[in-house]
Amino acid sequence: MTFCPPHGIDWIHDEAVIIDRHARTVMTANGRTLSWDFLVVATGPKLDWSISGTGPHAYTECVCTPPDALRLREAFERVLDEPGPIVVGATQRAGCIGAAYEFLFNLEDQLRRHHRREVIDLWWVTPEPFVGHFGIGGLPGAQPLLTDLLNHLKIHVITNAAIDHVEPGTIELADGRRLDFALSMLMPPFIGRDVIRASPGLDNANGLVPVRDTYQHRDDPAIFAAGVAIDVPSPFSTPIALGVPKTGYPADVEAKVVAENIARLIAHGIHLREAPFGQIPGLCVMDAGHKDVVILANHLLSPHHHAVIIPNPLYDEGKRLFEKYYLWKMRHGYSYLP
Ligand SMILES: Cc1cc2nc3c(=O)[nH]c(=O)nc-3n(C[C@H](O)[C@H](O)[C@H](O)COP(=O)(O)OP(=O)(O)OC[C@H]3O[C@@H](n4cnc5c(N)ncnc54)[C@H](O)[C@@H]3O)c2cc1C
Repeated sequence: MTFCPPHGIDWIHDEAVIIDRHARTVMTANGRTLSWDFLVVATGPKLDWSISGTGPHAYTECVCTPPDALRLREAFERVLDEPGPIVVGATQRAGCIGAAYEFLFNLEDQLRRHHRREVIDLWWVTPEPFVGHFGIGGLPGAQPLLTDLLNHLKIHVITNAAIDHVEPGTIELADGRRLDFALSMLMPPFIGRDVIRASPGLDNANGLVPVRDTYQHRDDPAIFAAGVAIDVPSPFSTPIALGVPKTGYPADVEAKVVAENIARLIAHGIHLREAPFGQIPGLCVMDAGHKDVVILANHLLSPHHHAVIIPNPLYDEGKRLFEKYYLWKMRHGYSYLP
């Protein structure tokens, strides 16, 4: 974090373990007590493996953390040697269904490159009422585009799926259907980190921080939150409960709103900036094997006034280029850039 000191930021590499709202302190794992006038909670997700048998410590794999992704690669290499059915999907209330779609299409591509696609049955199992809902209410054209792609790639699809439990090599759905697998990657729900859950008065039942449109804690205007740590209840009524995807672009916008509002409060400003989550624009590059799909929408959550899906503008280079740009921007602290 070399960019911190020039900006007057002290960088402390430690874990926050308890936030005391009333004493205005944060206690850390290494025994520090830090006091604050304003607090920003941006601790991201904890993965919820409460559905029996799910998760890398049970019978399914996950792509969400570097150690889990490395474990998943080993599982993938085993399936190349001993082919069997693969089930990719998301559990009910999953936090980021889009990332599971990306994994599905990248996996399909890799199976073809390794000449194993013909001998492996591939399943997509999703709580969405239709493919392309993504937990955001869908996008114009997304459902037919994804349906055609899934058909073309001969991927079996189960929508409205709720996972009851997973046993070694078998997923049982809530409707009693059983799916055998040699490898399964299921995206879990995202809940709040332990520090939020351990800090009285900070969170809702899932450990996520309830915020106003200014990103201030609903009950404490000196506490702000941004990113996956905030609570965004799904506005959609679906047969199977869905999580709202709190992706990178909204996290970036929220962090800027938080910074601006703290500056306004310090300057004794009364009017704070508001950016309701559902009205933040949708901006996303979806990786899909040897392809990219660019998604642009005036609002992240449906209804959208304008939304467009552009398949394959730069083959699979769009995501790579964006990643390089974004990491460069973050490493140098150029937060004012888009
Ligand atoms: C597999 C996957 C693929 C994704 N792909 C995309 C994508 O293509 N595009 C997109 O826009 N979004 C994507 N997302 C979502 C994106 O990762 C999140 O929106 C983004 O990372 C949210 O940022 P954040 O700051 O809220 O959380 P994080 O990026 O998780 O950052 C939280 C930070 O807080 C730290 N932390 C946690 N607890 C503590 C503590 N107690 N004390 C101190 N530090 C702590 C963590 O170590 C971490 O550094 C993807 C997510 C997943 C899981």
